[in-house]
Amino acid sequence: AEEVGGGDKEVVKEYFNNSGFQRWKKIYGYTDDVNKVQLDIRLGHSKTVENVMKMLTDDGPLKGVTVCDAGCGTGCLAIPLAKEGAIVSASDISAAMVAEAEKQAREEILRDYTDGSPAPVLPKFEVSDLESIDGKYDTVVCLDVLIHYPQNKADEMIAHLASLAEKRLILSFAPKTFYYDLLKRVGELFPGPSKATRAYLHAEADVEKALQKVGWRIRKRGLITTQFYFARLVEAVPA
Ligand code: SAM
Repeated sequence: AEEVGGGDKEVVKEYFNNSGFQRWKKIYGYTDDVNKVQLDIRLGHSKTVENVMKMLTDDGPLKGVTVCDAGCGTGCLAIPLAKEGAIVSASDISAAMVAEAEKQAREEILRDYTDGSPAPVLPKFEVSDLESIDGKYDTVVCLDVLIHYPQNKADEMIAHLASLAEKRLILSFAPKTFYYDLLKRVGELFPGPSKATRAYLHAEADVEKALQKVGWRIRKRGLITTQFYFARLVEAVPA
């Protein structure tokens, strides 16, 4: 059946509070109880995080910069950002993810500050869908979230995220190219246990159009690929 708008969101939320939480917590973690595919995805995703950190720090030091991490997952980006001195507001639709991110942030950030020297400010974590985030931030980042939504919904999300950002917006998504589209169609012929949610690919031109519509332009692009992970990374600024 055709899923529209809100339907996806409820399914996604349920997934990331339950089986999706278990699966992605492992992938985004450090333990070695992952299979080959999961390990490959972990590697690809960590490259995305590294690329984003580089994009952000290339522009100058992050100390005191306000960053909104929309759909923060287990905190893979929020934590290194906070370590660099950014003032991070991180949120996710999944309460399970937010609890895990909070726990990891405390462990990883405070671990190195036992001698009384001032520790970085911990990210402020919140359970919220990104559509409900408000406020203004120097930078808004949203990594690997759009994949859960069709293009019309993604357009609305991009517009909302842009409205929160003052200087830059960084997005990653699974690019819709002839090759990946084909790969995905073939994959769908063999449904496995991990296929609990639909994955949507997005054409870069469509994402660019959504940004242009709200007065933003793409300044930098990156592409991260491993065997089983692929992400297009874009940094947008007010046009
Ligand atoms: N951004 C994180 C990262 O790259 O490490 C997590 C990526 S994970 C594939 C997708 C995350 O998006 C999940 O934690 C999920 O709960 C969250 N999510 C999905 N839909 C959302 C929405 N509408 N608002 C906020 N978070 C959402």
